[in-house]
Amino acid sequence: MADQKSQLDVLKMIERFLKQQAELYGEEIYLSEKTPSPILSKEEEDEPSSSGRQLQFSASISTSTRHVEKKEEMATKQRPGESPSKTIKISEEQGLFENVVLKSEWKIDPKWHDSISLPQLEERISKCLKCRLGSTRKNFVFGVGNPNAKLVFIGEAPGADEDEQGEPFVGRAGQLLNKILAAVQLRREDVYICNILKCRPPNNRDPLPEEVEACEPFLKRQLEIIRPKLIMCLGRIAGQTLLKTNATLTELRNNIYEYEGIKVLVTFHPAALLRNPNWKRPAWEDVQKMRKMYDEI
Ligand code: SF4
Repeated sequence: MADQKSQLDVLKMIERFLKQQAELYGEEIYLSEKTPSPILSKEEEDEPSSSGRQLQFSASISTSTRHVEKKEEMATKQRPGESPSKTIKISEEQGLFENVVLKSEWKIDPKWHDSISLPQLEERISKCLKCRLGSTRKNFVFGVGNPNAKLVFIGEAPGADEDEQGEPFVGRAGQLLNKILAAVQLRREDVYICNILKCRPPNNRDPLPEEVEACEPFLKRQLEIIRPKLIMCLGRIAGQTLLKTNATLTELRNNIYEYEGIKVLVTFHPAALLRNPNWKRPAWEDVQKMRKMYDEI
């Protein structure tokens, strides 16, 4: 406990130092084409990125509020002799380490790693406050379905309906997912459905790296208990986040990956299919490929 407090004190000293640096040298930071940025909008992330200098800590220290506000503040600026780069101005005063929660306040059973069933695991982590999403959620969204499923569907995080009901994929997108399953003779009860994050990010923003880092161990234990043979990621963000890659959705859809020894496919998020019916045909091809692999395992 004392150790954790002193670690937090050190982080706060670093924060003060960074603020002093910002006062002295300005508050602009630059993104490189290599850095997967949580602060670019989906459309911008899909565009080829311009070159620029890199500041790695931008991803790990961003908070939800800054995340949203930075999107609005982004502008393009070119320095003499440099190719165009994206420049972000941090204008608001906010603690860099606001997302740091002391281990003693996580409210999870320390024996959660040893859970041998899904209900036991859920009970041990359902009050989790390991990241700040724990204090803004309405309901913890663990997962639903067959605990012995060969096939697991993974989305990025709960949305408003899921947060309200405590179950993944229950809104309009969830109904479409049920129809997709029915089209390949599967029911919701045959498979397991969950998300990378168990709590809803405010305004449905993308998961932050520190939130994924905090929550992913729970997903890993879930999968160790279920022992599926195949994972279908729903949406680009789920695929990129789970597979730790910047690949486009097209690249993700065209390949078969592995996560913790389990084969992984990626397809469109059902909500994207609701927005753009033209994607239903390629999505149907993905689902047929999934069914074929499901039959072979
Ligand atoms: S998102 Fe995951 S790590 Fe964060 S509070 Fe919820 S359960 Fe805990």
